[in-house]
Amino acid sequence: MSERKHTIRAVMDEDLEAFLESLGLLYPMEQEMLRCGFCGEVVRRDNLLSVYPENDEIRVCCTSPQCYGTLVKRRRGGNAV
Ligand SMILES: [Zn+2]
Repeated sequence: MSERKHTIRAVMDEDLEAFLESLGLLYPMEQEMLRCGFCGEVVRRDNLLSVYPENDEIRVCCTSPQCYGTLVKRRRGGNAV
């Protein structure tokens, strides 16, 4: 059971990695240069919540509940990913 869960998680991580690389965000994240667009926290694999566009730039959002709340509000009114 837990083994299977682990496999799914690994596949998701690979997809996420490819997705971030396609956006040019993988390298900055590995260098810990990627920061949450709302709170400025360094965003790593373990606290990356979502990616959203702002002023033609791709920004990331961390897993903090406050940032999540802000992102949800933006999604309602905008065209975020
Ligand atoms: Zn944040």
